[in-house]
Amino acid sequence: MSDSSDDATPYYEPLVDAEQLVGEWLAPACPRCGDPVVWVHSRGPDDHRASPCGCRLGAVEAREL
Ligand SMILES: [Zn+2]
Repeated sequence: MSDSSDDATPYYEPLVDAEQLVGEWLAPACPRCGDPVVWVHSRGPDDHRASPCGCRLGAVEAREL
């Protein structure tokens, strides 16, 4: 005599998938210092700065990020 309800034991998988999704988002690396660039400030056609590291970028570099 067996009780099949034992098979219904709740099982919670660790949220590995959620961590992987977050990990897949990689900020572009700053061409000056290699730190992740979250955003680029543009003060003019030739004045771009990576944030938060603050490195100055050329127009081509800023466009590629
Ligand atoms: Zn930098």
